[in-house]
Amino acid sequence: MSRRKDRMTFETGGRVYPMRPPFEGADHAVVEGWTCPTCGGNKVAGAGRTIEGPHPSDTYRADGGCASCRKVVGVLRVKVAGTLFGLEEDERVASMGVRIY
Ligand SMILES: [Zn+2]
Repeated sequence: MSRRKDRMTFETGGRVYPMRPPFEGADHAVVEGWTCPTCGGNKVAGAGRTIEGPHPSDTYRADGGCASCRKVVGVLRVKVAGTLFGLEEDERVASMGVRIY
């Protein structure tokens, strides 16, 4: 979920904020322009990743919670750059152990 051109956003309170992972492979991301109303943190972690939208889809969706206090719940999305056949097909191909370049 951390290929370079992937686009991450966090939706909460009817607004959508850009996110950026602090390092490659991070399990949370910094939300730009948002702070947690409970603890003042600005990092969000996702849980329960699913593929969103009609097939073929290039977007993962997860429940987003504050990485510090775990209280805020919004929606975290990752739009994957360069999926070949939609995420469902790509995951199927990946689970077969086939790599496509
Ligand atoms: Zn918090």
